[in-house]
Amino acid sequence: MKKWMKSFSVILIAILAFSLAFGTAQAESSNPNASVKKEYLIGFAKGNKASAQTSQNLVTAAGGEVQHTFQYMDVVEVSLPEKAAEALKKNPNIAFVEENVEVMATAQTVPWGIPHIKADKAHAAGVTGSGVKVAILDTGIDANHADLNVRGGASFVAGEPNALQDGNGHGTHVAGTVAALNNSTGVLGVAYNADLYAVKVLSASGSGTLSGIAQGIEWSIANGMDVINMSLGGSSGSTALQQACNNAYNRGIVVIAAAGNSGSSGNRNTIGYPARYSSVIAVGAVDSNNNRASFSSVGNELEVMAPGANILSTTPGNNYASFNGTSMAAPHVAGAAALIKAKYPSMTNVQIRDRLRNTATNLGDPFFYGNGVINVESALQ
Ligand code: CA
Repeated sequence: MKKWMKSFSVILIAILAFSLAFGTAQAESSNPNASVKKEYLIGFAKGNKASAQTSQNLVTAAGGEVQHTFQYMDVVEVSLPEKAAEALKKNPNIAFVEENVEVMATAQTVPWGIPHIKADKAHAAGVTGSGVKVAILDTGIDANHADLNVRGGASFVAGEPNALQDGNGHGTHVAGTVAALNNSTGVLGVAYNADLYAVKVLSASGSGTLSGIAQGIEWSIANGMDVINMSLGGSSGSTALQQACNNAYNRGIVVIAAAGNSGSSGNRNTIGYPARYSSVIAVGAVDSNNNRASFSSVGNELEVMAPGANILSTTPGNNYASFNGTSMAAPHVAGAAALIKAKYPSMTNVQIRDRLRNTATNLGDPFFYGNGVINVESALQ
């Protein structure tokens, strides 16, 4: 059984910690009213929190009430008049008194690829991928990620029956580029309201079998998927895999695959399979200056380019990281296809493919750049 390796490289594992922005909830603090109670966190000097009752007495005597007593530190949350809070600050039994201000997560980060392919223009026009089903044939998707909404899926990997778990991280990253949610955290996907389906065809180690991938394609046909994303490939073809791709295409699915990370070698065609099949859109990677990423495979079947360098997206465990690869470029095109389908539900997969191809921004030699970098704004007109 031939092993299919997904290929991508990690250039930066940057956990996107949500910076906490502190801002006071009350704007009138410059003119304090002694009778108005505010929320405070009061820390007791070491050894002075004899009991919850003692703390409560101290606070009650000052005109406040305890809202919460912390278990592992000598701290209570209290509601207290401002003047009493000031007085408590001078009490030697008290280490600190601080206002319980509102803590907000910073706004979500929009990865550079979103405006680069002008998906932001689609979003502004209310086109967000609603109602379009996108199958992510990959290592699974971490369905517990707060920035992803996974609608379902299936596993075709022996020993890994749960497609909604991702022991690798690759599939979760790809899924986020397609449809990370538009909320107050994390990142934003190209088609953030599209329906994500996790179709596990690669194991936690990132490899899979021809049969598993073909079964994943058949599952996608049987379950009415509109778009298939395959950020995977190998250097040799397979009749069964080609037939599976052709079947999906002939049944109306937009089939997308990463062109491969084999780079260029003179005039040699380095496009992998399944990207090389005529029923599949082969996607290469560009950087933010529209230069072809050095690893991006080249060849006559190269169809379009998309962002694939330093792409920030979701990873398991509510984390985020930047990855490099045509694996990251393909889901930009999958998301773009979902946006077109959302705006024009009656459009066929062939028409959607033509739109993507014909509206791409030309970047030069098609052997290295295909039809150029996709332009969602033009594709939606
Ligand atoms: Ca988000």
